[in-house]
Amino acid sequence: MSRPTQALISIGALQHNLAAVRAHAPQSRVMAVVKADAYGHGAPMVVRTLAQAGVDGLAVACLEEALILRQQQIFLPIFILDGPFAPADLPEISRWRLGVVLHNRRQLQWLLDAPQDFPVDVFVKVDTGMHRLGFAPLELPAVLAHLVHAPGVRLRGLLSHLARADTPEDWYNTHQMDGFREAAAHLPQTPGLELSLASSAGILRLPQSHYQWVRPGLMLYGMSPFAAEDGLALGLRPVLQLRSELIAIRDLRPGEWLGYGAGFRADVPTRVGVVAVGYGDGYPRLGTGTPVLVGGRRTRLLGRVSMDMLFVDLTPLPGAQLGDEVVLMGEQGGERVTVEELAALCGTIPYELTCRLQGRVPRVPV
Ligand code: PLP
Repeated sequence: MSRPTQALISIGALQHNLAAVRAHAPQSRVMAVVKADAYGHGAPMVVRTLAQAGVDGLAVACLEEALILRQQQIFLPIFILDGPFAPADLPEISRWRLGVVLHNRRQLQWLLDAPQDFPVDVFVKVDTGMHRLGFAPLELPAVLAHLVHAPGVRLRGLLSHLARADTPEDWYNTHQMDGFREAAAHLPQTPGLELSLASSAGILRLPQSHYQWVRPGLMLYGMSPFAAEDGLALGLRPVLQLRSELIAIRDLRPGEWLGYGAGFRADVPTRVGVVAVGYGDGYPRLGTGTPVLVGGRRTRLLGRVSMDMLFVDLTPLPGAQLGDEVVLMGEQGGERVTVEELAALCGTIPYELTCRLQGRVPRVPV
């Protein structure tokens, strides 16, 4: 492999974070959210690790993501959180024994119109206040009545999503949790029906939201859903490390400019390292001035981020040489740049930063 840019994926950290989910929600089964290629970490590898560590189920966003996992011989329960998207999805969903989260009448009708050979597992999504997807609580009795008697359907229970769990003390969580409890009263008295409400923030801070299934995404990858704390402060271990190398070193004289748009001007003699990573790999283009690690020390980006390269200030690191490792997200020599820190500096959230890592960055298990 010639380009030195890699996303190192820590298998040990994933195992640790799954154990942390179980410690927070010991009574619940764990449906690991691995959509968007496991938040950019590489779904097949992440899922193999979680499966070996005993995860109970998986959640993805669409049929295509589920099929990638089945083709990798992953035979855990998989639920498509937003699907089906079309009637043509249903035969595949049934054949591959996938489950769906049903959120509107159109999907309900598709299920009723074309019963499948193998029953499709169905969680019904109820809108408790997110107002994104789901049936209104008042619609539930009719929807559930259809599903209970539908051939080709195995009703699994009710699911909802909290809109403000990242601020756990917010009254809106109580409002949604109350709404969910009321909605659950509409479930038929059939044994085995289950409830699912909590994602990472609820798992960490709202034990009343745990129920039978929790759905962690972010915390499995070692990141925090809360603005004021990072994953480490929550006892999690970051899974992803984005690293590359110095591929050129330049000495700028005072008055010389650097990169596209001449985005940086040296006022003093400045040593610049050129690093083989850019926005074409998923590093945020807004990252001007953001911290990076070289030689176990923090330095910062200079000028504009290009598609395949960016610049770092090596002036405080006179010993830096071509080929030296540069860590954009992660740890080096005891120093650390967390995804949470980088996201805050770029005006985004950690979810977006890892999701946007591109396919050309190899995910390497460590
Ligand atoms: N459940 C649903 C319906 C989601 O959309 C998501 C994430 O987007 C999750 C669970 C996981 O959330 P988190 O990554 O905050 O744990």
